[in-house]
Amino acid sequence: MAAVKARAMFLRRRTRAPKLNSNDGLGCDDVRCERCGSGDFGSKLLLCDKCDKGYHIFCLRPILASVPKGSWFCPVCTSIKQPQLFPLVQTKIVDFFRIQRSSEAIENQTQCNIKKRKRACSLAMSKKKRKLLAYTPTEDPQRRLEQMASLATALNASGTEYSNELTYRPGMAPRSANCAALEKGGMQVLPKEDVETLNLCKRMMEKGECPPLMVVFDSVEGFTVQADRHIKDLTIITEYVGDVDYLKNRENDDGDSMMTLLHASNPLKSLVICPDKRSNIARFVNGINNFSPDGRKKQNLKCVRYDVNGECRVLLIANRDIRKGERLYYDYNGYEHEYPTEHFV
Ligand SMILES: [Zn+2]
Ligand SMILES: [Zn+2]
Repeated sequence: MAAVKARAMFLRRRTRAPKLNSNDGLGCDDVRCERCGSGDFGSKLLLCDKCDKGYHIFCLRPILASVPKGSWFCPVCTSIKQPQLFPLVQTKIVDFFRIQRSSEAIENQTQCNIKKRKRACSLAMSKKKRKLLAYTPTEDPQRRLEQMASLATALNASGTEYSNELTYRPGMAPRSANCAALEKGGMQVLPKEDVETLNLCKRMMEKGECPPLMVVFDSVEGFTVQADRHIKDLTIITEYVGDVDYLKNRENDDGDSMMTLLHASNPLKSLVICPDKRSNIARFVNGINNFSPDGRKKQNLKCVRYDVNGECRVLLIANRDIRKGERLYYDYNGYEHEYPTEHFV
């Protein structure tokens, strides 16, 4: 660990001390960013602790806000070159995702109720308020198995257990700490009807009716998620889940997929979601590079925090129609500044 820290300091000094002792074998003067090809901004050019290749913290996706304090491994070294494919065997997938074979009758009834309620709304009402939509699973059960196997492959390769709920672990923040009322400036409340839509999405997943998404492996981006059918604007793609912890416990973490859950007036009460141990497909959705206009164009999801029955929850929602085969991207850095209530009301 000491060696790693020394290297990080050494790296930060690189631009100020270009002449280096050549016996370290690093050839640091020639380090260029693997993404943009530039050797500028040396203080933001991170060296991988395995392959020694360089990456600007702002060229990474998701972007890293600061140079990690501990060891760091580049996207190529972190993602296993050829992930071991999860077997496309129904019983194994059912076990992996703990799929429940619940009574069809009850589920059908629930779907009917939701449809009825939607119809009962007046046209004027539905025009005023844009409602969230539940995702539509792929009809073909074999294709759904392939989608779930792709997620299981990615979770296994990342050493992550499957979970579709926020989790509270001993030694981390307790569930009682997740209090939406503590949000600085207040948090938008998810309307009752949208809460039902979210719950419907959860029940579908429990039955193995997963969102129509495929996790694919890309040698540059690592695991990434693409739409496996057309997805309409305002569709709930997934909730962002993982272990809930206080931000103060995680300030020295290098976890690049930590997500803000609660931005409290009292910073000691702020919470983050850490998806490295337990999570779902959300952790494989990539952030855009919001430094480039091309990156911004790719964005097709919004990450929105809501007060759901008094607790904070983070949802990934389509912010435009998404074509089959399109990769999913959200603005990893942007959402704190661009609180997207205007988009939904
Ligand atoms: Zn770069
Ligand atoms: Zn590397």
